[in-house]
Amino acid sequence: MKPQAKIERVAVYPGSFDPVTLGHLDIIHRAAKQFDKLIVAVLNNTSKNPLFTVEERKELLRQATDDLDNVEVDSFRDLLVRYMRSRDAGVIVRGIRSVTDFEYELQLASTNRHLDEGIETIFMTTNPKYSYLSSSIVKEIAQFEGEVRELVPPHVEQALRDRFRERAQAADRR
Ligand code: ADP
Repeated sequence: MKPQAKIERVAVYPGSFDPVTLGHLDIIHRAAKQFDKLIVAVLNNTSKNPLFTVEERKELLRQATDDLDNVEVDSFRDLLVRYMRSRDAGVIVRGIRSVTDFEYELQLASTNRHLDEGIETIFMTTNPKYSYLSSSIVKEIAQFEGEVRELVPPHVEQALRDRFRERAQAADRR
């Protein structure tokens, strides 16, 4: 039999991750089991007004995925499919929480397919525990000093507290 070179299956999980939640982490843990390597890629999107910088979001993700050997954290500002090619990745992983997510995700997947037929999108359905959970909801709760302990890892909870405290202090000085 011919010796076969092992083909590494590399997937990318792209998103804003502003900040990473337990919903994202659930997808990351499950997706990491399906691929040789999973790159969690923070979208460097200048049109949104993020709470955390790209570097901060990456650091929060790194700490959250410390225990997963085949997970790498990166960022990109290029077209996703072009970034995928540059990383030799063939699969995009996205999470689906609801029908609304599905409609948007289908549009996104079709666009990416149109741009590059060789790249596949795989959807993973949410863990029902986190079906209502989003970064926006977490930020909304944290902004009013609500409890986010069951929604994000402890270091993210701390980062949220610090960021909103800084903002409140800056507003007081104005
Ligand atoms: P984007 O700005 O690209 O939507 P997000 O950081 O909000 O980035 O989400 C990244 C991906 O993770 C998306 O596919 C989103 O549907 C999915 N996702 C977000 N929250 C959850 C959750 N609680 N359960 C499952 N998937 C989720």
